[in-house]
Amino acid sequence: MAAGQAAALRAPALLLERTARLGTKLRITGKGRCNLTNTAELDDFLAHFSFLDVVDTRHPEGESRYFLRNAFARFFAPDLMAFFQDLNVPTVVERGGRVFPVGSDAHQVAEALVRFAREQGVQVRVRSRVTRLLGGGGIVKGVELEGGEQVAAEAVVVATGGASYPKTGSSGDGYRLAEQVGHTIVPIHPALVPLVVAGSEPRQMMGLSLRNVEVRLLWHGQEFARDFGEMLFTHYGVSGPIILTLSGPAVARLGKAGADGQRPLEMSINLKPALSPEQLDARLRRDLDRFGKRAYRSLLKGLLPQKMIDVVVARSGIPADKPGHQITAEERAGLRELLQDFRLSIVGHRPLDEAIVTAGGVDRGEIDPRTMASRLVRGLYFAGEILDVQADTGGYNLQAAFSTGYVAGQSAARFVTGD
Ligand SMILES: Cc1cc2nc3c(=O)[nH]c(=O)nc-3n(C[C@H](O)[C@H](O)[C@H](O)COP(=O)(O)OP(=O)(O)OC[C@H]3O[C@@H](n4cnc5c(N)ncnc54)[C@H](O)[C@@H]3O)c2cc1C
Repeated sequence: MAAGQAAALRAPALLLERTARLGTKLRITGKGRCNLTNTAELDDFLAHFSFLDVVDTRHPEGESRYFLRNAFARFFAPDLMAFFQDLNVPTVVERGGRVFPVGSDAHQVAEALVRFAREQGVQVRVRSRVTRLLGGGGIVKGVELEGGEQVAAEAVVVATGGASYPKTGSSGDGYRLAEQVGHTIVPIHPALVPLVVAGSEPRQMMGLSLRNVEVRLLWHGQEFARDFGEMLFTHYGVSGPIILTLSGPAVARLGKAGADGQRPLEMSINLKPALSPEQLDARLRRDLDRFGKRAYRSLLKGLLPQKMIDVVVARSGIPADKPGHQITAEERAGLRELLQDFRLSIVGHRPLDEAIVTAGGVDRGEIDPRTMASRLVRGLYFAGEILDVQADTGGYNLQAAFSTGYVAGQSAARFVTGD
């Protein structure tokens, strides 16, 4: 996007890509379907970024939602959809405002971008890894490639992505390039990443997908985040859409967990969020009365997915073969609590390699949000995930990459042409 926009403004543009193919990560986005943006209104859209910000109350203007406002004012979701429509990639809006190409094929999106760049006259070099920014005295003069070749340039846009899914090419090089010329890197950590849970229960429930559940995150027993939707048990813990969304704030807390053996981070699953505690209790009482002769374990079949039954029986402490009518009020209350407040202790997260996005990156305060220009080095621009900008799932991350790429490419071209 950046290279194409620069060339469209008649700046000679060279795109250097370290792998053998352009847009490798883009081609695997949205499970191969590419959720390229979202139709949410601007304020709602921006709110999907800010929740991961480490908010500095002295400089609230530095929050992502202020930082991105300029770029989104120039090139937002409707512009992106029109852009791809012009490239013969019409889009469709799905659940939650998520936008996909009609053909459900991420390759189409990547190929359209490559075509756009080439049509604008961008020269492309693959297998060309940038290892250093050239220049000095606060001005960029070009880049050095692996092997020592130097390429002169009046402006450089660094759009090397984050450090997750490194096999796609984004292994964190950009952070080193930025640091070499004096930029601050806000410490990186995985965001949108599966979480690791203590004990063997997740393994017992592996493969189980829970729909329409509510998950709350608790820190020392105090709730600090919640979401509603679908989650999944895996051999190590939990994953799926709401877990990925909640992982940003969870990972930030995990970093603070003491080494004293305490496990202050918990999640609470409400398997029956549509019912109040009283309604659920009434339902349990009814079931226990009506099928009073049946064993407790078989009564649970109407209430829980198969893979959870043994786990709940063990946790409740009620013998599996106890007849329904012998279950005490106290036991019933314990069961109700398990169904609406099923606690798991979160002890870690999967590695950066498995994260959908990398949180942290080039400090927003050192970037001019109107141009994406470095405030430290003339002629240097940043775009995409390398910036300390990260959002929820739903198409927000790609829109941020496209919008900042659009602005950075045009700004770099104007810097070069003197326009
Ligand atoms: C599995 C998965 C699914 C995702 N699905 C979605 C989705 O549906 N919707 C959404 O909004 N977001 C999604 N994301 C996030 C989104 O893909 C990224 O945020 C986005 O691709 C970032 O774009 P970028 O251009 O900044 O970086 P990237 O897309 O990572 O591109 C960076 C490029 O720079 C190249 N590069 C790196 N270092 C160098 C170097 N030294 N020299 C030369 N080239 C270099 C890399 O090879 C790479 O091609 C997904 C991510 C993953 C991992």
